[in-house]
Amino acid sequence: MSGSRVLVLNSGSSSVKYQLLDMRDGGRLAVGLVERIGESGSRLKHSPADGESREWNGSVPDHDSALKAMAAELDRDGLGLDSPELAAIGHRVVHGGLRFTEPTVVDDAVLAEIERLIPVAPLHNPANLTGIRTAQALRPDLPQVAVFDTAFHTTMPESAARYAIDVETADAHRVRRYGFHGTSHAYVSRETAKLLGRAPEDVNVIVLHLGNGASASAVRGGRCVDTSMGLTPLEGLVMGTRSGDTDPAVIFHLMRVGGMSADEIDTLLNKRSGLIGLCGDNDMREIRRRVDAGDERAGLAFDIYIHRLKKYIGAYYAVLGRVDAVAFTAGVGENSAPVREAALAGLEGLGLAVDGGLNAVRGDGARLISPADARVAVAVVPTDEEMEIAAQTYALVNDSGNQNLT
Ligand code: AMP
Repeated sequence: MSGSRVLVLNSGSSSVKYQLLDMRDGGRLAVGLVERIGESGSRLKHSPADGESREWNGSVPDHDSALKAMAAELDRDGLGLDSPELAAIGHRVVHGGLRFTEPTVVDDAVLAEIERLIPVAPLHNPANLTGIRTAQALRPDLPQVAVFDTAFHTTMPESAARYAIDVETADAHRVRRYGFHGTSHAYVSRETAKLLGRAPEDVNVIVLHLGNGASASAVRGGRCVDTSMGLTPLEGLVMGTRSGDTDPAVIFHLMRVGGMSADEIDTLLNKRSGLIGLCGDNDMREIRRRVDAGDERAGLAFDIYIHRLKKYIGAYYAVLGRVDAVAFTAGVGENSAPVREAALAGLEGLGLAVDGGLNAVRGDGARLISPADARVAVAVVPTDEEMEIAAQTYALVNDSGNQNLT
């Protein structure tokens, strides 16, 4: 059998996040980030498990230079990419369309399909592709595995995945709801079942992934049956900079009456809306500080955020029929006690409640915050997308290795 290490790469348009994991024990050997690729003042931060973090600022003109800089740092720690211990590289790929329902070993056909999906993921898939191609050039002999953000949601029934628009037009342009953050929803729903001491197949969970991007999902027995993001990550909850749900006619109105172009509205709804558009801040810590100081704009932004969240909790309760747990995850979900409390306030009739004392306790691990006698468990479950990508990658390469032996 090959080595036990997996390198996980999350390549964005101007950044690469990486983690090197040892799958024998799930240990993180190194984590790092290269930022401002192709811009002035590029920066690398590298933190090995056995040593001091290192940072440098310099010129990183492209992804090739970024991955070479990462490889050099790993080399300094004796964790180089040429090590036989490295079993595979796992890549986060945002959009896998309908074709990719599972993690997939990358070959030319897979690359071509990821490229074909660029029109539905123009911001993400090109950067993900660049990351894969650059990693292939560095280690052509190593399996590169694509793990798709959309894959967990491919189990959604047509009733949840289709928009009610003309079927021929929708199909011609592949317009449907794909959902994102799937690796996180998969991981968190499974970890929630573990926390309850039950098998994922026996548990219905509403997962609330509340980070700068935010999405909710309804997971029945380990399979996603609905999620709040759609064709793109713009649909659904109020996010840091994205509007989430709006009447689509807002767009025609802004075009016809506001004289705005499609690109301008795209930027408005994705980058200048949500919390930042409502109150000028997208960090929930700052918003809460302002709310506590009596700032009305921040208060309204918070209320709109919570109102939408509550509507999705109610909707997914109805979709699932029976709910065993609600799990909060990601930056806001894991850290903001006021958001968790406000999101479930008044839902006691649904068996949903937060214990004030438990909710206020900060902690690193998965934990319950519902009262002991609650009908529905409420949990805080830290997400770990890198671990999930590494685990799926490792399972896949070991599986294909074993198949080759038989
Ligand atoms: P993520 O996208 O999951 O990294 O989440 C980032 C967001 O989490 C930030 O924009 C903040 O709004 C939020 N966040 C991080 N730490 C805290 C905290 N201690 N309290 C409240 N919100 C937080």
